[in-house]
Amino acid sequence: MATSSSPATPGPEDPGAPGCVIALDVGGTGMKGAVLDRDMRPVETVHRPTPRADGPRAVLDAIADTLIDLNRSATGHGLPVRHVGLAVPGIVDDRLQRAVWSANLGWRGLPLASLLQERTGLPVTLGHDVRAGGVAECALGAARGAQDVLFVAIGTGIAAALVCDGRPIRAAGYAGELGHIAVGSEALACACGGSGCLETVASAAAVATAYTARSGRPVSGAADVAALTAQGDPVAREVWTRAATGLAQALATVTTLLAPELIVLGGGLAEAGPLLLDPVRAGLEEHLTFQRRPSVVQAELGDRAACLGAGLAAWQAVGHTTPAARTGVPVR
Ligand SMILES: [Zn+2]
Repeated sequence: MATSSSPATPGPEDPGAPGCVIALDVGGTGMKGAVLDRDMRPVETVHRPTPRADGPRAVLDAIADTLIDLNRSATGHGLPVRHVGLAVPGIVDDRLQRAVWSANLGWRGLPLASLLQERTGLPVTLGHDVRAGGVAECALGAARGAQDVLFVAIGTGIAAALVCDGRPIRAAGYAGELGHIAVGSEALACACGGSGCLETVASAAAVATAYTARSGRPVSGAADVAALTAQGDPVAREVWTRAATGLAQALATVTTLLAPELIVLGGGLAEAGPLLLDPVRAGLEEHLTFQRRPSVVQAELGDRAACLGAGLAAWQAVGHTTPAARTGVPVR
C-alpha cells in the first residue's frame, strides 16, 4: 500500500530485512509512541501531550514531529524504520486510510496516512485506536489464542473491537460503537445526538459526573467513585451499579448477536478490577438463557494496547509476522 521515498527505509518487498517500526497512539489528551524491534520489544518510548486545544492542524504537526523524532532515535540505535503504525480515535476507514471523523480531534475526512507520509518520508498505516488495542490483546494480552472476542475500552467514552472467527470486523470504520447502544430507561442526552446510550451511564466521564450531580461532592474522576464504592458510600454504589447494569445489558446484546467466547474489559474504568467485573458478570448472567457464556476478564496491556496494536499493524504491512502475532488474529 504505502511505500517510502527514503533510501534509508527498506521497502515492503523485503520482509526479512532488519530494522524496526514506529508505533504511535494518538489520544484526545496524550500521544504514546514507541520504536519496536522485530520481537515487539520497545527500543524507545515517548509520551507527549496532544495539542487538541490548538486545533487539528497543530495536532497533525505534533504527530509529524513525534514521528520524525522517533525516526531519528531509531537511526541512532542503528535500526532503519521499516514502517509506521498510527492509531487514532473516532471513525477510521482502514481500507481508504482516512480519519473519517473524530469529535475529539476535530478531523473530518482527513487522508491522514498520506499526509504524514508526505511530511515524514516514512510509509504509514492508519488504524483505529480501540481496534488496535483489541488486536494487541488478542496477540499479546488477555485474549491470546481466542478466536471470538469482544474488547471494550471504557474511558471518557466507550468503544469496542469485535473479532469474529479470528477476524476483526471493521465495516468501513463504523463497527464496534458499543457506547451508543440504548440501555435502561433514563434516556439521558448523549454527545452523539441520541439519548439513552450506554455511554451516558457507564463511561468514566458519566460515572464521575453522575456522582457529583447526585452527591454535590466533586471528584477528580471515576477512580474516586470506584474507591468510594469500595468504601460503601451509598451514592457511589448507586452510580456504580447503574454503570455495571448498563454494561451488562449492552454486553448481553452483543453476546446474543455475535457470541464472543471472551469479553475483555479495558480502559480506565476496568482498572477497578473485580469491583466492575463481578457485577458485570452477574448482570450478564441474568440476561442470558441459551447463549454461549462468554468469560469476562480484565485487559492485560493497559494503556499500551493501542500503541502495541499499531506496531503489529506496521510489522504486518511489511510482511513480518512477529512471534507474538503468530498466536493472535490478523491485524488487517
Ligand atoms: Zn450516543
